[in-house]
Amino acid sequence: MEKILEVKDLKVAFKNDDKENMAVDGVSFDVYKGDTLCIVGESGSGKSVTSLSAMQLVASPPGRYAGGEILFEGKNVLKLTSYEMGHIRGKEIAMIFQEPMTALNPVHKIGAQISEALCIHKGMSKKEAWKRSIEMLKMVGVPDAQRCASSYPHQLSGGMRQRVMIAMAFSCDPKLLIADEPTTALDVTIQAQILDIIRRYKEEHGMTVMFITHDLGVVAEIATRVIVMYTGKIVEEAVCSELFANPLHPYTKGLLSCIPRIDQRQSELDIIKGQVPSSENMPNGCRFNPRCPYCMDICRQKAPELVDLGNRKVACHLVNMEKEVGK
Ligand code: SF4
Repeated sequence: MEKILEVKDLKVAFKNDDKENMAVDGVSFDVYKGDTLCIVGESGSGKSVTSLSAMQLVASPPGRYAGGEILFEGKNVLKLTSYEMGHIRGKEIAMIFQEPMTALNPVHKIGAQISEALCIHKGMSKKEAWKRSIEMLKMVGVPDAQRCASSYPHQLSGGMRQRVMIAMAFSCDPKLLIADEPTTALDVTIQAQILDIIRRYKEEHGMTVMFITHDLGVVAEIATRVIVMYTGKIVEEAVCSELFANPLHPYTKGLLSCIPRIDQRQSELDIIKGQVPSSENMPNGCRFNPRCPYCMDICRQKAPELVDLGNRKVACHLVNMEKEVGK
């Protein structure tokens, strides 16, 4: 399959007082054309920082790209000037966020905000762009698109604002959509509708999707491939169906066991014991070792490498040992 995005040994650091902490620490993965890649993990796993980096949107300071590269169609986006990035953002790569109010301009009408990208990237006149904005709003299921285009963001509900963000993201036919927790703040019915809009547009336009979420229910709905991140590193990568059928990394197993299941009677939900460690208290060896029920001596001494097992990649000493024994 053809690659659209290649992330190679990406390192992103954040300065806190005088110390620098690595929020993303040597992450490498590929996004293939037409794929829906989900990146999952708890807060602090580095999934959002990874996705923001692909748009060169990590604020500097306090953030800093400390190493690696992100190739979009062969071009390293981390080396592009802001002028060059302006041609990619919105046109080639579009992004939708969890809270549209932070992305929409509160003092401009919705129609004007969607039109802006169409005028810049598609060379449309203001009149053409306004007309197209209304069509885009209709396409994402906004009931009174005309009125919505003439409204300000604060006059819309959260679900409607998210539809506006999606209309804006789709307006220039991006090759890659990065969706950073776009359904987290929405109720389940709206969430299902938003996922459906993204899925439909992807199928009709051959778009590639990189979806960031902590919700494995959403992953099961939308993903073709999944990357599981923990404390700035990838711990497991697999095809979605294989990950759900047979999770290998103890952290992935923990995340999956936290989901309530309709076919099992449980008085209490499982949890992953402990907390994600702060950067000041990062454990030696495997970063998951204080929370891992299978922790061995080697886990406290040596960080496991992400090993390619053929159909998936896993970073765990135990999994590697089991594979060696099974050979
Ligand atoms: Fe658990 Fe050790 Fe595997 Fe880390 S390397 S997940 S501590 S078994």
